[in-house]
Amino acid sequence: MHHPPVTIQDKQFSIYIPERKILHSVEIVAARISHDFRGKDPLFLTVLNGAFMFASDLMKEVSTPCEISFIRLSSYEDMQSTGKVKEIIGLKEEVKGRHVVIVEDIVDTGHTIAGLLPQLHAKGPASVEVATLLIKPESLQHNLSIKYPALSIANDFVVGYGLDYNGFGRNLRDIYKVM
Ligand code: 5GP
Repeated sequence: MHHPPVTIQDKQFSIYIPERKILHSVEIVAARISHDFRGKDPLFLTVLNGAFMFASDLMKEVSTPCEISFIRLSSYEDMQSTGKVKEIIGLKEEVKGRHVVIVEDIVDTGHTIAGLLPQLHAKGPASVEVATLLIKPESLQHNLSIKYPALSIANDFVVGYGLDYNGFGRNLRDIYKVM
């Protein structure tokens, strides 16, 4: 299939990961999660906005009973002793005693996940793991255990399949990188 470059505002993007490769990687992660969480009724916590498309395709492939919910992280950043922490907004489900799987679009520096994990652990879950569509291993600045990465990428800025540039590009079926 031919994928011409796309223009979003002031930037041009070229095809990076086609949809069929994305979906294949999502299926593999879903199979691992289905196996690991059999009988545990996991609660998927999807981080909006970027992870919505990944969460949708992931859930369709998970074959064990599970729940899904959606959270946002505050856009302001509170300076705390640990650094900059984005707080969880909109978490209605009881997390205590649950097996939680965070569903993220991309782990870059790891700051976001590193800030999120202690907030979830404070609510007394049985376990917390991270599923992410993309990970940039060269950018990672925290010692995080990301158990379910679908795809590893180089340190490029990407859009599509839920990820945006200034709010646009989320609707692209494929993942593109900046030229
Ligand atoms: P971290 O906290 O791990 O550095 O970054 C996580 C967040 O940064 C992601 O949830 C995403 O919103 C944003 N981000 C990092 N890299 C990219 C990228 O290549 N493209 C897009 N669209 N967002 C990114």
